[in-house]
Amino acid sequence: MNMNEFYQIIGVMFAVWTVTIISSRFLILKSLEKENKRKLAEAEENAKLEQERLEKERLESAEKERVEKERIKKEKLEADKKAQIEQERIEQERIESEKKAQIEKERLEKEHLAAEKQKEKELQELKTKKLAEKERERLRLEIEKKAKIEKEKREKEKLEAERVAKAEKERLEKERREAERVAKEEKERLEKERLEAERVAQKEKSRLEKEKREAEKRAKEEKERLEKELVGKTFEEGLEKTQKGFFGKLKTLFAGDKELDEDLLDELEELLLTSDIGPRTADKLFEKIKEGMDKKSIKDVDSVMSFIKEEIFNMMNIPFEDKSSKKPYVILFIGVNGSGKTTTIGKLSSQYVKEGKKVLLIAGDTFRAAAVEQLEVWSQRAGTLFHSGKDKQDPSSVIFDGVKKGIKEEVDVIIIDTSGRLHTDKKLMAELEKIKRTVNKAYPDAPHDTFLVLDSTNGQNAIFQAKYFNEAMDMTGIVLTKLDGTAKGGVIIGICDTYNIPVKYVGIGEGINDLKKMDVKEFVNALFPAN
Ligand code: GDP
Ligand code: MG
Repeated sequence: MNMNEFYQIIGVMFAVWTVTIISSRFLILKSLEKENKRKLAEAEENAKLEQERLEKERLESAEKERVEKERIKKEKLEADKKAQIEQERIEQERIESEKKAQIEKERLEKEHLAAEKQKEKELQELKTKKLAEKERERLRLEIEKKAKIEKEKREKEKLEAERVAKAEKERLEKERREAERVAKEEKERLEKERLEAERVAQKEKSRLEKEKREAEKRAKEEKERLEKELVGKTFEEGLEKTQKGFFGKLKTLFAGDKELDEDLLDELEELLLTSDIGPRTADKLFEKIKEGMDKKSIKDVDSVMSFIKEEIFNMMNIPFEDKSSKKPYVILFIGVNGSGKTTTIGKLSSQYVKEGKKVLLIAGDTFRAAAVEQLEVWSQRAGTLFHSGKDKQDPSSVIFDGVKKGIKEEVDVIIIDTSGRLHTDKKLMAELEKIKRTVNKAYPDAPHDTFLVLDSTNGQNAIFQAKYFNEAMDMTGIVLTKLDGTAKGGVIIGICDTYNIPVKYVGIGEGINDLKKMDVKEFVNALFPAN
């Protein structure tokens, strides 16, 4: 018999017991009711009999009867009430017992469920225990297996380490032997290299010594050259070629004990006329010589030479108004392209800077970018301020701005470079006139000097150039360049004589110091050296 069956039996028994209790109560109730009924019927019977008997007494006993009736009724009601109360009590008891039975049932069910649960729990615990045991076993086996594998691995590793150690030992031994071999080779190589280096060093030493000697020699030469450049050339050096040219011929003509006769005079006239001083000046000079001879102031060859020298001095010694004390002192440079304007400006500005003056150069030759750059290079060499305009800007406007800048910067000297590149003389002159006006507008009274730059290598052409410029511009001085490279230095005399304009500077080289301020006496002495 299982638990379910057991509980079923208990339930059936409980039901039978309940039914028995209820039915016994019901029977008791029924018998009580029956008894009451019987009593009532008996009372009714007695009453009927009594009614007959009491009919007579009915009036007297009516009241009695009514009371009795009421009592009976009351009793009946009470009995009913009691029966009902009893019934209710029984019902209450029934319900109570049902409730109890239900509670008992529920308790039992609960107990049963708890038992079931307990059973299940135990079962579960058993299962868990079993599983744990199984797991422990598995783990044990696994650990054993792992331990075995580990042991095998260690064994293997040990063997491998032994093998590697052996191999490493062999390798190291091999390496050691190889290193010994390499070291030996390296030692031999280094020894060889050392010997080679010693040999090369020895060679290099002698080469360096040679180079040093050469460098010293070059430095000495360069020093000498620089020293010379710094000092600048002398008139003698600059006029070397000229001196050998016309003046050399003159000297040759009068050399020896020559008579001052017609033949010599003819030769002198021819020499003068073919020289660079120009036919006009040559003619004038020749006439003066003849005059001197007539006046007996010239008696012999020697006096002719000193007369010519003196005449040349007089021709060149033209008075010049020095305006360099103006501040700023403005000089305008004009002349054809290539005559040496830019170079002369560079040299001259350097002289002013050396005197401690603040100088500004204005690049008025705006026709070529290279011309502006050339002047800028000179400006940097000489250490001056510099002003230039935009490419192809109108030269007058550049110069105007430049002069204003010079005034503002309170410079001592402003030197203006111009172009000589216009294709017609007319255009060039118009341009120069405009520039001059502009300078004057920017700074009244300026330019204080206008210097025409002439290339002496052009010889007679220089004299013609001077003519053109002289017509258009109010020149105050001439710069004769490149005297070092020509024998035509005599042109200077023709220019001075023809235009009565003093030569202020002469260019006797391309170096920064190769510009000499004209010293007529020194210059003429250089043309006529004593021997
Ligand atoms: P610009 O066109 O009038 O400005 O002339 P540059 O100043 O550019 O000079 C033209 C060339 O003449 C340059 O190569 C100068 O080096 C050279 N030059 C200028 N003055 C002298 C000089 O006195 N002696 C020599 N030998 N060359 C000079
Ligand atoms: Mg120039």
